[in-house]
Amino acid sequence: MAGMTITEKIMAKHSGRKHVQPGDNIWVDVDILMTHDVCGPGTIGIFHEKFGRNAKVWDKQRVVIIPDHYIFTADQKCHRNVQILRDFVREQGLPFYYDPEFVKNELGMPNPYLDPNKTTYKGVCHKALPEEGHVRPGEILLGTDSHTCTAGAFGQFATGVGNTDAAFTLGTGKTWLKVPPTMKFKFHGEIPPYLTAKDLILLVIGDIGVAGATYKTMYFAGQGISSLTLEDRMTLTNMAIEAGGKNGVCDVDEKTLQYVRHRSRIKNWEIFTDDANAQYCYEKQWDLSTIEPLVAKPHSPDNRDTARNCRDVKVDQAYIGSCTGGKITDMIFAASILKGREVKVPTYVVPGSTEVHSDMKRLNLVGVEKGPNEKSVEDILLDAGCKVGPSGCSACLGGPPDTFGRLGGTEVCISTTNRNFPGRMGSMQAAVYLASPLTVAASALTGRITDPREFVVKPIQTGMAGVL
Ligand code: SF4
Repeated sequence: MAGMTITEKIMAKHSGRKHVQPGDNIWVDVDILMTHDVCGPGTIGIFHEKFGRNAKVWDKQRVVIIPDHYIFTADQKCHRNVQILRDFVREQGLPFYYDPEFVKNELGMPNPYLDPNKTTYKGVCHKALPEEGHVRPGEILLGTDSHTCTAGAFGQFATGVGNTDAAFTLGTGKTWLKVPPTMKFKFHGEIPPYLTAKDLILLVIGDIGVAGATYKTMYFAGQGISSLTLEDRMTLTNMAIEAGGKNGVCDVDEKTLQYVRHRSRIKNWEIFTDDANAQYCYEKQWDLSTIEPLVAKPHSPDNRDTARNCRDVKVDQAYIGSCTGGKITDMIFAASILKGREVKVPTYVVPGSTEVHSDMKRLNLVGVEKGPNEKSVEDILLDAGCKVGPSGCSACLGGPPDTFGRLGGTEVCISTTNRNFPGRMGSMQAAVYLASPLTVAASALTGRITDPREFVVKPIQTGMAGVL
């Protein structure tokens, strides 16, 4: 009998079977279901319609609701969505809801939190889920958002589902899945200082295309992945969906365990590894020393080129944020280039979570608690001329016209986000280049797409930033 992969083992365990193989259709027990302000109202509506107006969710401890998408806007429909979540949370008595308490029943733009440590609001769901201890190895996480695959960095099966599937899980705790075949991407060597995981995932997607992993597991393996911080691994798995992947997954190691032990309320979980005779439908490997900084040109994440080849492209705006590129390590990467310099184009910075925002104020450039006379990561970015907004999805997906950093015309933008389809950041006429926070910061300084090797001269330390 063929061996099993991490994903197959997680699925087998959650379906009560000893063995599964790609193509099997199975019922699985779900550990966590997450929803947010965009899909939550629709999911709740279907749940009430199909299970009854007085129905209760299958397990209050396993439902997590994180408003994050359309928070800092005067749009009343967006505020209404938050209110629908609040009503449901109250009705069901759900303990894991992260309310933007500053969104009140008032007209106009809500005043953002004043102190990121003193708000119940958490920011982008995929960043907040692990921070708040809802992500563990060996579990199954479903979310009504395509980037739910981010949590695969923690050695779990995590995938996005539609509102109907989510409503079914809300009522039953189960879902029906087909076991995906696994593609293995192996990286040798240590990550060089001028690369981040963003370059690696743009490399992979450029190779296989935006449909290259459709309904497949993308397994990222090798010493190169071990050498990444956990946050950087989240960038890899986050973008598995950009190749059509059902999920992305990484091995569990000490970095994973340190993070999860520190955050999770639940103290027991199971770690799975690929069997030596596990079967892969595709395998490819790279040596990290041969890779150079990459971008995805408009209008697709697989439209790969080197930053060097794009040096003649002028940019009008830079954007550092989102669940892909708004983590504290991303901020430190960008700040390490921007320190003591001044941006040439408007540069918008959006922390991925309120914890990231807090860390930006608390930590210095090497990810350590800053001293009394030291600059914080946020100070460095502000000194360089960046505009720092409140945490949330913000312009990553355009949003209402009053969204911070949104594109409104024919701008060329270089961005740490994950999608560059026409209109994604707000304007059908704009052109978005996806890149690492290093490349975005370097480009913000020159006003044209710039290979970060022009600025990065030594390894960038991030300490325990984003872990503890
Ligand atoms: S930051 Fe962007 S990609 Fe991430 S959940 Fe929000 S809208 Fe989606």
